[in-house]
Amino acid sequence: MAFKWLRHLHTRYILRRHPISHEIWHRLMQDNALFYDLTSVEKAHLRELTTLFLHQKYFKGTQGLEVTLDIGVAISAQACLLVLNLGLDYYDECVDIIVYPGAFKVVRQAPDEMGLVAHEDRVLAGESWLQGPVIISWDVSQAEMGELIPGHNVVLHEFAHKLDMLNGRANGMPPLHQNMVREVWTEVFTEAFEHLQRRLEHQHHTEISEYAATSPAEFFAVTTEYFFTAPKKLHRHFPKVFTQLSLFYRQNPAKRKSA
Ligand SMILES: [Zn+2]
Repeated sequence: MAFKWLRHLHTRYILRRHPISHEIWHRLMQDNALFYDLTSVEKAHLRELTTLFLHQKYFKGTQGLEVTLDIGVAISAQACLLVLNLGLDYYDECVDIIVYPGAFKVVRQAPDEMGLVAHEDRVLAGESWLQGPVIISWDVSQAEMGELIPGHNVVLHEFAHKLDMLNGRANGMPPLHQNMVREVWTEVFTEAFEHLQRRLEHQHHTEISEYAATSPAEFFAVTTEYFFTAPKKLHRHFPKVFTQLSLFYRQNPAKRKSA
């Protein structure tokens, strides 16, 4: 009880002591279509989460990139959108965020052994390490601001992997809530994943990015990107996946005004 109360006091202190300036926040809300349709209550909550996230995490720029407050706030706010109704505890394991100026290249022998999920279709626009950092290419992320590109958001993608990894290696299933059924999740995602793979085998057009067919982990990360950037499209093609994601994220982007 006392601990909870102390934590609450500390949270209020951080929020008061390290506010994100109105100018930076307002600019981000105007510049990034991802946030257009949030209600004012959701925006206020997102701003609190973003402030705390920014304070708790360690951002590091590489190759001469300086992580300015604008960059830090932009990445943090997108990451926090995923946990808007879950809470920041979901990111307790994730401390380091490395930001590259552009796409980056790495060579590794056995990525699976390292617990790594590399996002290679974008020549490494991002990466997520099990018990390690999230890596984001600022160039790619910046290009995804403004108008939404359906199914494309590197920050959402990499942080979705982090949520997936909360119960071990990324396997396409994050820890489910009490009102969710493990068998249902598995059945729904397996069916959708196999459907996508069959379409690719027959060289048919896929409804969502074919990168989702790479592995169950990528399927979860890519459908998360669609869930937030093109919710109606995901709902149209994979309604059951949409429902499961909506139960997990405890939000429904398809109900937002211009979704
Ligand atoms: Zn990925």
